[in-house]
Amino acid sequence: MSDALKNIAIVGANLAGGYAAGALRKQGYDGAITLIGEEPDPPYERPPLSKEMLVHPDVSPKTLFVHPLSFYTEHNITLRLGVRAEALDLSGKAVTLADGSRIAADRIILCTGGHARRLNVPGGDLGNVHVLRNLADSRAIAAHLSPGKNVVVIGGGVIGLEVAASARMRGCEVAVVEAAPRLMSRVVTPEISAFLELAHRAKGCVMHIGVGVQSLHGANGIVRAVETTSGVQLAADLVVVGVGIDPAIELAKGAGINCGNGIVVDEFCRTSVPEVLAAGDVANQPNPYLNRRARLENVQNAQNQGAAAAASLLGAGEPYAELPYFWSDQFEYMLQAAGETVICDQAILRGSVESGAFSVFYLTAGVVTGVLAVSQPKNIAAGRRMVMKHSQPDPAALADESSDLRKLIG
Ligand code: ADP
Repeated sequence: MSDALKNIAIVGANLAGGYAAGALRKQGYDGAITLIGEEPDPPYERPPLSKEMLVHPDVSPKTLFVHPLSFYTEHNITLRLGVRAEALDLSGKAVTLADGSRIAADRIILCTGGHARRLNVPGGDLGNVHVLRNLADSRAIAAHLSPGKNVVVIGGGVIGLEVAASARMRGCEVAVVEAAPRLMSRVVTPEISAFLELAHRAKGCVMHIGVGVQSLHGANGIVRAVETTSGVQLAADLVVVGVGIDPAIELAKGAGINCGNGIVVDEFCRTSVPEVLAAGDVANQPNPYLNRRARLENVQNAQNQGAAAAASLLGAGEPYAELPYFWSDQFEYMLQAAGETVICDQAILRGSVESGAFSVFYLTAGVVTGVLAVSQPKNIAAGRRMVMKHSQPDPAALADESSDLRKLIG
């Protein structure tokens, strides 16, 4: 470790930032660490925001905060919360904040995450139109969910479908408007989109797929209806916009750091300038399992890449190789996916889709490159190992539920 390294600033007090701070201490760094966050809360996990916190708003989620507040005191990590970082002053070795203060920084880890996209249509800024990205958004949405309320969810991606399921479970009348021809198309194949569409319809959600939003109509500044591009008016007491995120690259760009879809980093999480690293939803990194660059928006990556950036900063890093993994709970279905689950030569179904518990293995040139399971966690575990070992199982055996998957890992 360089003797000159006395001050590290982490921008983004989120999962990646919280893990990066913890990892710096674990690796023996004893200089100053400042964790800067725009939100008022210390690092927390986002998955409960669209699930438990909407379905059971009166119950504190079992896991939410990454560390108790005492952790930051005990590890001498300074939290600067509720204040936006405005610029990186690389020559002055500092991060400047919106309140005018300067945080000394020999090195900076950018964990700036993403901004929830908003709807750029007339009425898009009416009252009771919410995005879902942070704790305040989740609490505001939860407060509106009660039996009989009309909820329109715009965007049938992961967040949109989780919100739709949670709202329906709270007894709301739910409509989903998805502009693409199928649901969750960013992360799953058409067969899985079809399953999700049927599952949501069976639970009473009204699905408008392949349809955009023309405008939102309101009364007294509060949304009352969503008009689709096909001219249908959907009654709305609450609109939740889940149309994805844009990576928060403005600080990096302002400092002349190379950005594209996210902040471009190498396998050690290093950006194009030597003093700055990046991790989490914002980092665009080569992924050896996907054989391409990827910006992974998931919990596991935020944790591991945050820690990897910290190790790399201290000179103890190894090339980061994360098998992409995400899960989504919608009604009683737990969907888990690992590896490449969109592009493949062959999709092998194991089990019956109708039963609501099945798995799909994705093969390219005979090699397992991805796996997706609905309510079959054991198959995900086996599938992950197949992807990591580049297994080439017999497709017929994979599809046969009586075969032992562990024997197909090779
Ligand atoms: P997230 O993970 O945040 O849910 P995704 O990218 O998985 O984000 O999903 C966003 C979804 O929103 C996509 O399915 C996309 O097709 C859809 N979408 C984007 N813009 C619109 C829009 N204007 N109206 C309806 N759906 C939209």
